Amino acid sequence: MKKVIHKQRPSNIKALVSLVVPFTELGLAVLFHTALHSPISYILSQLLLALFFFQCFILLHECGHKSFFKSKWANQGFGHIMGFLSLIPFTSWIEIHNLHHKWTGFRDKDPTTEGTVNPKFSPFTKALVNISWRLYIPLFTLGYRFGNYWNLEKMNRHLKPKNIRIIRWNMIVLLLLYVGIIILVSKTLFFYVLPAYILSLVLSDLVILSQHSHIDIPIAGNVPVRPIRYSDQVIYTRSIIFPKFFAHYFLFNFNLHEAHHQHPSLPAYYLGSAIIDKSNAPGFIEYLKRYKSLSGMNFVFNTKDKLKTR
Ligand SMILES: [Zn+2]
Ligand SMILES: [Zn+2]
Repeated sequence: MKKVIHKQRPSNIKALVSLVVPFTELGLAVLFHTALHSPISYILSQLLLALFFFQCFILLHECGHKSFFKSKWANQGFGHIMGFLSLIPFTSWIEIHNLHHKWTGFRDKDPTTEGTVNPKFSPFTKALVNISWRLYIPLFTLGYRFGNYWNLEKMNRHLKPKNIRIIRWNMIVLLLLYVGIIILVSKTLFFYVLPAYILSLVLSDLVILSQHSHIDIPIAGNVPVRPIRYSDQVIYTRSIIFPKFFAHYFLFNFNLHEAHHQHPSLPAYYLGSAIIDKSNAPGFIEYLKRYKSLSGMNFVFNTKDKLKTR
């Protein structure tokens, strides 16, 4: 039987406790950078900052579900800040991510996976995909973030004009902020933020791709279909397992994607208590070994999880 041990509502205390780790990392990264001037302190500050940026993306996801803080406004305000730091407009995140949850189970109906259906790639692009997956070049997260959340053509196909107008304004404000920052603090940005940011995208690639890649997900085609119930979506997702403490305090349980699809509005700090029926949840090292042995094209665009039964 599928059930959640604690069917809980958002808690501001738990949200604030969750923020202790990322903001400690940010503080330490700034300290290492400003107070100490050695190659080791530079590397440490970059590692901490990379983890911080990746956690910003996870927190964007939480706020998008309005399940991090109790108040809608706190989720919105913090979500916009996390979106700014993740290079994703918060308003487009909400719309596209909600459609992802609605249509998980039909690869061509879910806007975040529709591009994986029979892609028409040139040999050069195929080689680029394979090399990127092999060498940990974060091509996929870049494609995911820009191809989904800045893609007005995609939004025109999936969203209402009223929502697109709001998203356009969100994009304009973000672009103005980014241009201003590039002009004002370009040196800091390129030497102290960009390397950490690229590293955060490498982490993101590994986790984001684990969630739905190389899993049998049907294609609706021209057949009229209805969304699949959340409780039945679990077979179209994958979790990756880390030590519980690390998953809870550093990944905010974002790795438990099966439980999240079953209970999308359950705050992430309770996801560790969610029980699921069937599990496709390899340990992180096992996941890396299994899927890094495949070519990037095979892993991302071939949906048959042939290795699952091995
Ligand atoms: Zn998902
Ligand atoms: Zn979600």
